Amino acid sequence: MRRRAKFVIQGDGSILSSIAKELKGKLDQVDESLLKIGRLDVDSYEDREGYPELLELISKHNLQHTFFEGREYTKKEMETAEYYQVFVPYPWLHDPEKKAKYYGTTYESQSICECGETQTSELKLDSKKIGKWQFATIDPEFIVTDSAKDIMLNNDLSGVTFQQARDFKYRESPPISQLIVLHILPPTNNNVKVVPYTWENKCPNCIQLGFLRSELIYEREKLKDAKDFNLTYEYFDAYVNRILIVSAKTRSVLTKHKIRVHGYEPISII
Ligand SMILES: [Zn+2]
Repeated sequence: MRRRAKFVIQGDGSILSSIAKELKGKLDQVDESLLKIGRLDVDSYEDREGYPELLELISKHNLQHTFFEGREYTKKEMETAEYYQVFVPYPWLHDPEKKAKYYGTTYESQSICECGETQTSELKLDSKKIGKWQFATIDPEFIVTDSAKDIMLNNDLSGVTFQQARDFKYRESPPISQLIVLHILPPTNNNVKVVPYTWENKCPNCIQLGFLRSELIYEREKLKDAKDFNLTYEYFDAYVNRILIVSAKTRSVLTKHKIRVHGYEPISII
């Protein structure tokens, strides 16, 4: 796997200019076009010789920056992994208020936090929004078409169950089911990188880690009871949800039957 970092660094133009001069040729792309507004953009593989120096200079000058990491896997790494993080399509992504609750799905709460909520109605959603997807998420639930459900059931995938879901206006739609993941993994390894949330999590019952900035990492023994469908123990990212992790078997069944998702990333097992 090869890591590629994207930095937007902000600070005094002359400091940024000296950094750019120092690192040119030692990183893949150093973009000085916004220096006059105090911004330097770097996009580079992390294995380049200038990368450790870049980190040192950012820290030495205490420069404000944002960091995103892309990870590129070889075909062999993609095909031989045992577990994968799944990037499940979210057709409501641009409508953050339109969660399962918005469409009338009800929950009973046993704590101060959404982690303590138990779903008390069938899942309701705007079925017209699912579009071409056979597997999608509506925060915080997963949905599948009934044909995708049948494929999953016929292949005996473990750690998952299904219940009927419905259009919120009871309109005719292709049959859809809620996919319920039954297995929650133990906590991830401490080397998983996150940008922590800015709020303090006052809930004693869950761990809200923040915005994921690395691959997910588990010690091997933590995966000994893993199923074909699993969720992380921790909550991540903008929607503060558990992340779906599937086995190689699940990925292969979904791929073979053209049940598409946005992508998979191998879980790092140490
Ligand atoms: Zn909680």
